[in-house]
Amino acid sequence: MPTKRAYTSTILQRALSRLAYTAPAMKLTRTSCLLSLVAFCSIAMLAQNSFTVGTATAAPGQKATGTLEIPAGVDAAASIPVVVVRGSKPGPVLALVSGAHGTEYASIIALEKVIQSLDPAQVSGTVIILPLVNIASFEQKVPHVNPVDGKSMNRFYPGKQDGTQTERVSYVITKQVVERCDYLVDYHGGDIDENLRPYSYWPKSGDAKHDAITRDMVLAFGLDHVIVWSDRPKDPAASRYLDNTANTRGKPAIAVEAGYSGTVQTDDVALLANGTLSLMRYLKMLPGSPAMVEHPVWLGKVDTVASDQPGIFYPLVQRGTYVETGMKIGYVTDYFGKTIYEAHAPTAGVVLYICGVPSMKKGDTVANIGEITTNP
Ligand SMILES: [Zn+2]
Repeated sequence: MPTKRAYTSTILQRALSRLAYTAPAMKLTRTSCLLSLVAFCSIAMLAQNSFTVGTATAAPGQKATGTLEIPAGVDAAASIPVVVVRGSKPGPVLALVSGAHGTEYASIIALEKVIQSLDPAQVSGTVIILPLVNIASFEQKVPHVNPVDGKSMNRFYPGKQDGTQTERVSYVITKQVVERCDYLVDYHGGDIDENLRPYSYWPKSGDAKHDAITRDMVLAFGLDHVIVWSDRPKDPAASRYLDNTANTRGKPAIAVEAGYSGTVQTDDVALLANGTLSLMRYLKMLPGSPAMVEHPVWLGKVDTVASDQPGIFYPLVQRGTYVETGMKIGYVTDYFGKTIYEAHAPTAGVVLYICGVPSMKKGDTVANIGEITTNP
């Protein structure tokens, strides 16, 4: 019995001699076929390797900018900036979305920094960045809603193709960004009227495998206060929030918040920008190890204190203050200075945010207080 090596070369010789009979006649055809095939494959591979979102197309190793165009419908058209960073190495697709609330400035500026700092040569995979979804809110300095239709741009997912602008934008983001990513982060912060301390949301779905990934994602992001959010809608057709739209479609997603009251503080921007890079290290999209939060403050429930009177609001505590049950956290006076409402903490916990301006309507949020849990 011949050795394996000898046996293989015998087969090879037979194949070569068979080829020798047919080769002279077929040589020209074969060569041209081969050349066409090589050309076809190169074009196909290039097309396959580039990544397009809206008008932004990036080949491997490139960073491309463009827009998501939302055609006019019952109201005006919209054009949303998009950046595609196509890493030179393969890896997952991560979507980073900011500015659904266009005056939560620190989160928008943080993604502007991320756009500048990402080097495609260092990246494994692809990053889709939407730094400012709600341009009308940003330009007109209108908090909470899209002034075009008066709707919050983080409450109408997965959106509607024939709805108002907010719904049409949400629809396009669902189709072009959420459905094409593997992971997603939604960035927020205290709005113009919200004096907020940084925190993230861990969306606990009940699916142990999915929850283990999102838990790691919030810890890798690095914000040390984490709200455990376990009662988000489960229906992908009524997902409401952007991160929930991704999670209900099987793509692990988290939401993060930093910044307050219209300010762009260096610390808040750094928390969000560095958190993004640390998360990318956890996802192995950047070299190096993530900086995981080792001892997070888990917040099992959030209590909202709302004013039952309109008037002038005076806070008595700061964002981040730890309060006891019953503690007076602020009060409202009428326009003559008479106190007409006192706000008390309904429970012990941390002030996640407190109203940062004197304006107060009946029913407005005075503060959000997070209840600490040791069993998230
Ligand atoms: Zn927001």
